[in-house]
Amino acid sequence: MVTITNLHKQFGNLKVLNGLNLQITEAGIIAILGPNGSGKTTLIKSILGMVLPQQGEIKVIDSKVHKRYGYRQKIDYLPQIANFPSNLKVKELIEMVKDLRGQSTRDKELIQLFKLEPYLDKKLGKLSGGSRQKVNLVLCFMFDSPLIILDEPTSGLDPVSLIRLRELIQQEKVKGKTILITSHIMSFVEEISDRIIFLLEGKIYFKGTVNDLKTVTGEPNFEHAIANIL
Ligand code: ATP
Repeated sequence: MVTITNLHKQFGNLKVLNGLNLQITEAGIIAILGPNGSGKTTLIKSILGMVLPQQGEIKVIDSKVHKRYGYRQKIDYLPQIANFPSNLKVKELIEMVKDLRGQSTRDKELIQLFKLEPYLDKKLGKLSGGSRQKVNLVLCFMFDSPLIILDEPTSGLDPVSLIRLRELIQQEKVKGKTILITSHIMSFVEEISDRIIFLLEGKIYFKGTVNDLKTVTGEPNFEHAIANIL
């Protein structure tokens, strides 16, 4: 699904990704973890072809990123920060994205799931951060791509919406998809992940299950296990 070989990315003098290698062949939910600034978003944007690395190769679903862009249609992406025009109404944005990416019949189901009906006629600029995040989730899950990349999907969500999101992600997993997630909410990560990838100093420091990490660190508590390797 995703193969990354010797990936180097630096911004000016700041080395963010430093010879990173990663192979994701399996379906399921994979959390990308690491401290603030460790390069999680940079890695995600490299996979999406939105960041141009200085060195290395990325293949997504057999297509080389930066050489052919056909693969991009096979990825559903939730950005950490979505910059949509604030004067656009929610329903106008949903229609606009459908016009750009293709028709979807799933938007109504997702609007219902996140209880967004009262917001459809509201302008994006008037929504709370959590409501905007729910709109972004609708836009991401409206389509049916084999690879889903979610950068901080839990951001701003209330506890009920968090449960809905967890169920939604698990439904996508059952369909055989690969789902990459970043999140700083460790209870969410522990509950949902089949595997975790831990980024440190520009490389993959650890790849395995939550239980593997607990065993390696000797810490039965997941948050303590993460703190142990920092
Ligand atoms: P967080 O957990 O805070 O979201 P992250 O692990 O996703 O962090 P990135 O957003 O990938 O980290 O950023 C890695 C480093 O690269 C940071 O120091 C950031 O300031 C820097 N960086 C990212 N994008 C750019 C850019 N376009 N120009 C300059 N520096 C950048």
